[in-house]
Amino acid sequence: MADFRARVKLKPLIRHAAIRNRVLAVARQITRDFRGRRVHLVGVLKGSCIFLADLVREIDLETSIDFIAVSSYGRGKESSGQVRLLKDLDSNIAGLNVILVEDILDTGLTLNYLLRVLRQRKPKTLRVAALLDKPSRRIRKVRTDYIGFRIPDEFVVGYGLDYAERYRNLKDVCVLQLPPAAV
Ligand code: 5GP
Repeated sequence: MADFRARVKLKPLIRHAAIRNRVLAVARQITRDFRGRRVHLVGVLKGSCIFLADLVREIDLETSIDFIAVSSYGRGKESSGQVRLLKDLDSNIAGLNVILVEDILDTGLTLNYLLRVLRQRKPKTLRVAALLDKPSRRIRKVRTDYIGFRIPDEFVVGYGLDYAERYRNLKDVCVLQLPPAAV
């Protein structure tokens, strides 16, 4: 069977070892910032699942986890610009120290929407951890607290990020280049 990578060009942008080091540094920062308190991580499905799984295991505090799912991209590479809530949280976040865990910040529309939704539920504190940030694409101004890497305006996959639900399992974050016929 042909290698599944052969159909597209995948250029490693951030290697797994660098991701691991950075995730460790972010987790240490969170541990320092919330010393003695519990943090409630809210992962944005599905892209953040691998980042969250690695991050939470390095946080040396009492933690709890929940997930929320939104859709803005469908199957393609461009945002529809409209955010829809696909799956709500399982539990109440009132009074909790919430950290929203995102895979990537692009236009800022998704994060802007999610912060509005979560703020209405009166968490004690609300912070944002994003693995990747593409600042050049920002349309909405959003506050972020923990950023893994700033990257250029490229479409990336791997370490949880997909293209049409594929490539989430790649260990590195890679730039995806589709053959002209597939674009
Ligand atoms: P925003 O609302 O900030 O434009 O987009 C955020 C969401 O778009 C991310 O959570 C992610 O699902 C998707 N996204 C943005 N840029 C990329 C990218 O380069 N690769 C992938 N796979 N998804 C992206």
